[in-house]
Amino acid sequence: MSRVYNFSAGPAVLPEEVLQEAAAEMLDYRGIGMSVMELSHRTKDFQKIIDDAEADLRTLMGIPDNYKVLFLQGGASLQFAMIPMNFMKNRVADYVVTGQWAKKAAAEAKIYGKVNVIASSADKTFSYIPDLSNVTIDPQADYVYICQNNTIYGTTIRNLPDTQGKPLVADISSMFLSEPMDVTKYGMLYGGVQKNVGPAGTVIAIIREDLITDDVLPGTPTMMKYKIHADNGSLYNTPPAYGIYICGKVFKWLLAMGGLEEMKRRNERKAAILYDFLDRSEMFHGTVRKEDRSLMNVPFITGNEELDAKFVKEATAAGFKSLKGHRTVGGMRASIYNAMPQEGVEKLVAFMEEFEKNNR
Ligand SMILES: *Cc1c(COP(=O)(O)O)cnc(C)c1O
Repeated sequence: MSRVYNFSAGPAVLPEEVLQEAAAEMLDYRGIGMSVMELSHRTKDFQKIIDDAEADLRTLMGIPDNYKVLFLQGGASLQFAMIPMNFMKNRVADYVVTGQWAKKAAAEAKIYGKVNVIASSADKTFSYIPDLSNVTIDPQADYVYICQNNTIYGTTIRNLPDTQGKPLVADISSMFLSEPMDVTKYGMLYGGVQKNVGPAGTVIAIIREDLITDDVLPGTPTMMKYKIHADNGSLYNTPPAYGIYICGKVFKWLLAMGGLEEMKRRNERKAAILYDFLDRSEMFHGTVRKEDRSLMNVPFITGNEELDAKFVKEATAAGFKSLKGHRTVGGMRASIYNAMPQEGVEKLVAFMEEFEKNNR
């Protein structure tokens, strides 16, 4: 068996210990004689899996009792529609557009109502976070929407906007559990888990209870009502059971490591190794404004497309996988999620140094 260094933006690297544990339990989960994949979601064994997962997530993130934790499906992209369908009472919402995912979310919301783009960094290909300190909030807005970590462009919103009492809704797909977050500042936090937490197919939504109501847009399908999932403990229909099981293991892995404070320390250390190199290299350069840099997704370029392609090819051959930048951006991107060991980043930097020397 040989494992590569996987820098994919998603689906992405998972902790080896978690994969090993899942492998050991594959044929016989703790003496029940079957795999979790084969296990009915109406059994007490599965109920324990989902209950433990929720309890551990609550501990990790300090989720208050007045927030529901929902395990959903359909990817983060389905939330782009579920959010307006469930929250747009006045059919107005304010969106901060800092990248492709926020742009897609805003476009989807436009199907249902009026969307105000209250800040955007589209003018400089989303290479920075616009000033959100005094954005104008529409008094009619049902919520204010942000994508807090921009997976494709490699920026993170560090200072949340003052929403003037409107619920803040945040897509945290690519920064989920990478650092502590104050849940009380949000009406809803959500993410597809395939970036930092588990296998694709599971979405976790953390929603303040008072926002979960039957008062949804007419025509909202049953499966797209948060209330249905909340009232049924995420078991209205068959949940993404195996995904929830793996997420639960990742939560335990994080708790054993010391929780999100410790994870943040590790992530800062890892990111600094790469950013410090980008700042001193004469060949490789970061593409975003320094103060807005993401700890998770690090885009970089040489400024020469042929050289970029050569680098990606040689890096791939050397066991550094999925470093090609997003198709809309070009260049390279190293996603260094929780499960990427520091050693992986150090070896990547050593490889980049060597490449720079050989291609001057
Ligand atoms: C990957 C990603 C999405 C889309 O996720 P899907 O599960 O493929 O729908 C949305 N938002 C962010 C921030 C992402 O990184």
